[in-house]
Amino acid sequence: MSTLRFQAITETFNRKPVAVTEPERRSEIFGSNVFNETAMRQYLTKDSYNAVMDAVVKGTKIDRGIADHISTGMKEWAISKGATHYTHWFQPLTGSTAEKHDAFFEPIEGGKAIEKFGGGQLVQQEPDASSFPNGGIRNTFEARGYTAWDPTSPAFLLGTTLCIPTVFVAYTGEALDNKTPLLRSLQSIDQAATAVAKYFDKNVSKVIATLGWEQEYFLIDKALASSRPDITLAGRTLLGHTSAKGQQLDDHYFGSIPTRVLNFMRELENECMRLGIPVKTRHNEVAPNQFELAPIFEEANLAVDHNSLIMDVMDKVADRHNFKVLFHEKPFAGINGSGKHNNWSLATNTGVNLLSPGSTPMKNLQFLTYFINTIKAVNEYEELIRASFASASNDHRLGANEAPPAIISVFIGSQLTQVLDELEKVTDGKLSPQEKTDLKLNVVGKIPEILLDNTDRNRTSPFAFTGNKFELRAVGSYANCANPMTVLNAIVAKQLIDFKEEVDALISSKKMKKDDAIFNVLREYIKDSKRIRFEGDGYGEAWEKEAKKRKLSNNKTTPVALKAKLSKQNISLFEDLNIMSKVEIEARHEIEVEEYAMRIQIEGRVLGDIARNHVIPTAIRYQNILIENVEGLKAIYGTTFKKVAGEQMRLIESISEHIEKINKGITDMIEERKKANKMEDSEKRAVAYCDKVKPYFDEIRYHCDKLELLVDDELWPLTKYRELLFTR
Ligand code: ADP
Ligand code: MG
Repeated sequence: MSTLRFQAITETFNRKPVAVTEPERRSEIFGSNVFNETAMRQYLTKDSYNAVMDAVVKGTKIDRGIADHISTGMKEWAISKGATHYTHWFQPLTGSTAEKHDAFFEPIEGGKAIEKFGGGQLVQQEPDASSFPNGGIRNTFEARGYTAWDPTSPAFLLGTTLCIPTVFVAYTGEALDNKTPLLRSLQSIDQAATAVAKYFDKNVSKVIATLGWEQEYFLIDKALASSRPDITLAGRTLLGHTSAKGQQLDDHYFGSIPTRVLNFMRELENECMRLGIPVKTRHNEVAPNQFELAPIFEEANLAVDHNSLIMDVMDKVADRHNFKVLFHEKPFAGINGSGKHNNWSLATNTGVNLLSPGSTPMKNLQFLTYFINTIKAVNEYEELIRASFASASNDHRLGANEAPPAIISVFIGSQLTQVLDELEKVTDGKLSPQEKTDLKLNVVGKIPEILLDNTDRNRTSPFAFTGNKFELRAVGSYANCANPMTVLNAIVAKQLIDFKEEVDALISSKKMKKDDAIFNVLREYIKDSKRIRFEGDGYGEAWEKEAKKRKLSNNKTTPVALKAKLSKQNISLFEDLNIMSKVEIEARHEIEVEEYAMRIQIEGRVLGDIARNHVIPTAIRYQNILIENVEGLKAIYGTTFKKVAGEQMRLIESISEHIEKINKGITDMIEERKKANKMEDSEKRAVAYCDKVKPYFDEIRYHCDKLELLVDDELWPLTKYRELLFTR
């Protein structure tokens, strides 16, 4: 066994759980590291406090004079908790978070120093942003970008640094981050959904989107993870024969959590409590060493920030517990990958969940309005949704019969299907009093307040209604939720705007009553969006065929999926709602296809390196042992040696064959990489990486994995699947 492999296993084996200090009550530490309402009341003047609250609730601007007061209060709060630095915390288009720390400390005359943090530093900063992805925006326009405070997400303390959530934009105004379009989409959905909510309740003045994400991840011992170059560099295993025992026995799911892992979780949860992240559930997932963590849902912008933050915190806490967190969607072949379900709904300032059925027919009509509009929106923009979570790593999941397929469809359950079937029969034009009564009594009035137990949950659906929210299940574990959330908010906003126009038109031109108009428009929507509804098995081949008939897209790879972002329909969606300009959309597309090509390129290089420098030399070493053995047998048995050396000789040959295939695969792959690298157009390059380079991965891996089975375990240099997944 290679020294590295041996050491890694021994180290893991000898690990002791790292102790965790629990607070007396977790509720007492909740939000203690957040500059939340309580902290603001204590550290801000009434005017400053009101200014922040108005910015949060009404979106009003905070003027510079007030900003100076706020920054002073924020600084005092942070210093009282041991902070020495501050940073604008943002989410550039790299997918992770960015921070550049500045000290509060400032020298003054007389060799003295003070702690300084002015309104200017709170509101805006100019990080040296030249190496963040910009998709060409800053080359063609203006070279600089700046970060600007987002008061809707409270500042927090990470270690000794005060973190201020910010947007990141170019000086010409184009967004260079994930948060800016999300905030704009939240504004759109607020306006559109509030306007429609007024049909049902005049008191509604604001609608927020809510997001509850469920984060899946793998936890691997730090020593084991770093013994594998592929995990270290690509975040996943590029080769490795599957372990004899994997997840067949289903003995991991919801099983008892190992102590070392539990301690990691407890410390993580305490950290989350301090940061005001309301984590609620933890459990084992399906695959060995796979786990899930989910908070209570929050306003979408805050929930997105919290997810980005938690991924960062998880890395840090894991390190203290000698683990490495794998967020990759498919770290191991042959066992389940990881996703990040995005539970999404809409809530009013009056405390109503718009996707929750109510206790009266009127409340249910409101519910049906948002429910059906969402389905219609998904029907019109299914390709855009698919594009919103496209990535090199998520391609391994979608359509791999463990996660939803790449085909977008909506699952609503049998009860609601029945309701929609009934509504489809509603009379064209004005409804008779009898029909209305029937509807109220037998259809709308029959929707039970709690659907949760009645909705049998179709796990194969990418977009499922689960009682009081929609659950977008195709998002990858590594993804930033901002992307899919921006799309969902945008398409539903657009749909609700259209809906209101149509209803108003019927009311004014056809002199219809409001209810009649709503029923009429909904009826048409149900008919129009039938193709997107699917209650069956999303994993089956039959569905692929059926979906094709229904003209639903099935964009299996990222380059194909991303292309949809550039369609006329999708560009005008974002432009009309002022969420993104054409320049911003194209820049993002550019960044994403470039990232795709780079990720595949990195994986190709790592795989080539491991196969040539680890696998082949080891195979040759073992082959030499076999050759020696055959020679020995020949010396003893003379001409009849083949009787006893036959199997060894076949092994020798077989090893040579695999080596040859691996070498050829790598050589050909490198050729294709060279061709792809020469392509000027980044989209074509991504397609080439996808269609020409990537297919060699499986081929090369196949032969490496065969060698793993043939070669003496003592010689094998790479930590094996069974060791990665089962050493504790
Ligand atoms: P699972 O999908 O694992 O069976 P649940 O259906 O209970 O679990 O999912 C719970 C998730 O849904 C949690 O993250 C929760 O916060 C979220 N959720 C519940 N209600 C809403 C809502 N109104 N809006 C957004 N997310 C919600
Ligand atoms: Mg779920």
